[in-house]
Formats: sequence, C-alpha cells, structure tokens
Amino acid sequence: METIPPPASDANSATASSEDRGSASPFAEGFDRPILAFIIAIHVVPIALCLIFPSWPGIWAMVVLYVVTGLGVTIGYHRKLTHHSFKSPRWVDHTLAVLGLLAGEGPPIFWVAHHRKHHKFSDTEGDPHSPRDGAWWSHMLWLLPRQSKMKLGSLYGKTASDLVRDPFYASLETTYFLWHGALLLAVTFAGWAWGGWYMAGSFVAYGFFLRMLLLLHATWMVNSLTHMWGYRSYQTKDQSRNNPLVGLLAQGEGWHNNHHHYQASVNHGHRWWELDFTFLVILLLACASLPLSWIGLGAHRPVYNLKFYSHHHQGVRVLFPGD
Ligand SMILES: [Zn+2]
Ligand SMILES: [Zn+2]
Repeated sequence: METIPPPASDANSATASSEDRGSASPFAEGFDRPILAFIIAIHVVPIALCLIFPSWPGIWAMVVLYVVTGLGVTIGYHRKLTHHSFKSPRWVDHTLAVLGLLAGEGPPIFWVAHHRKHHKFSDTEGDPHSPRDGAWWSHMLWLLPRQSKMKLGSLYGKTASDLVRDPFYASLETTYFLWHGALLLAVTFAGWAWGGWYMAGSFVAYGFFLRMLLLLHATWMVNSLTHMWGYRSYQTKDQSRNNPLVGLLAQGEGWHNNHHHYQASVNHGHRWWELDFTFLVILLLACASLPLSWIGLGAHRPVYNLKFYSHHHQGVRVLFPGD
C-alpha cells in the first residue's frame, strides 16, 4: 500500500489579496432577488403541498431522492470534484454532478468554487460562510448578496478552473433549471403511475419539494453547526467541529473537524463509531467493481485510488489502487 504523509499545513494558512477575500460589504452589489425568492418559496411551497397531499409512498419517494441527490453532493460535488479524494472515470463524475445538481444547491462550479474558498479562508475574513459573521449568516443568509457575473467568473477562474475547462460542467451553469424541470416531470409521472393524480401531487410535495428543503438545511448545517458545536479531534486553525447529528443528517459530512484536518481524505469519519454513510457507499462501489480489475478492466472501475485517512496511523493510505 502506498502511504501519503499528512499535509504540512492547512490550506487556510494561505495568504491572499483583498480581491480574493472579497468586498468589505457583502451587499455592495445589492440583494440576489431570485435567490431570496427561492429561499422563501422552498420553505412555503413544500409545507403547503405536504398538508394537501400526505401519503406514505410520497414520504418514501422523499427518502430515496434525499439519499440519492444527497450522495450526488457528498460523493460528487464534495469528495470528488472539490477534493479529488478518489479517482473515477469522467462519466462517473458527470453522473454524480447531475445528481448533486438535483439537490438544489447550485451548479457544480458554483458549489465547488465557494467550498474551496471556504477551505482557503476558513473562519477568517474571506470565508463565504463562517459563523464568526453570525450563525444564520453561515447557515443560509450568505447566499443573499448579489454576485455579478464578473465577480463569479473571477472566483470560478481562481478556485475552480479545472471544472470551468470541462464543457460539461460549464453547460450545467446554463441548463441548471432544465435538469430540475426534468426531475419534476419524472417525479410527477412516477407518482401518477403509482396512484393517479393525488399520488402525483404527493410525490411532488414530498419527493421534490420537501426533500429539497430538508437536504438544503442538512448541507447548510455543515456550514453553520459544524463550525459552532461539537468536539474537536484535531487542532486545526479554524473552528471546525465534529457534530454527530450533522454526521447523521448529512450522510457523513458532519465529521467536519476531521475533514478540515485532512481535506482530501475519502473518509470523514476517522474513528470506527463516526458513521460516515457516504464513505460506506464509496467503499461498496469500490468493492463491487473489484472484479473488473481481475479481468483486466481496472481502469473502468467507477471508483478506485481511495485516499483513506487512518486516525491510528495519523496518515493516508491508498485503498483499491489503480493506475
Ligand atoms: Zn468548514
Ligand atoms: Zn471540503
């Protein structure tokens, strides 16, 4: 097994220009009214619809889509596209990116650019969503300042140029709502096929809208709660915490102090009892695709070269090595 030494220093020790850190006033370019309207609507619409169309099949549709689109964010957006914690073919990355997009947290370039900026400036000036600027700010209010296309383009070029160069990810910036429209149609049809128009309404209420609302708050809690409450296993330079509740709701992303300590690690749970559902799914995919390497098709495995952090050895080992 190949062993990779721990990082020499945290990414947030990087020096940066005032342009990198951002404007002194986050609202220098005004409010992002479409985002404000979206945040209000995503809280009102599901509550209203779920009261009108309650059903158990609708709730199960919500659970399935919560897990699948959530994994699109945790495996795709976060552990692969942002941190390259494992290797995978492009078709896998693109599929994960579409699933992550359907969580409603923005296109992959937007998500990755802001998350890398968070790691670069964690809990210092320039962090897009640090509780030092207020708990609700870090949770969701940070999304409200308007960002011009020029400002976003500059951020994308500096922090996510690898994704900007891929025409597929660039296309998701403009086709973002089409994918959501396609999912809305698919959910409506699945509900109608299950039990007529009432069930179509229930699937839309729970599977599309309430699922998106709950998933948004689970992800937002990673930005807010896990920089406020929880225990610290590592003395990182930021305020990151390991929070078991967020670990559960965000499918393993709540072991955030572990993640800040070694960002490229495929496992955010470092101790055996730190349940990391996302890592378990990645591990399952790696195990299930092992037979491909036995017949000489190892390069086609969906996931390989997993960078596994061992808390006991305080270092990283590569599991399921490939090319
Ligand atoms: Zn963080
Ligand atoms: Zn991260």
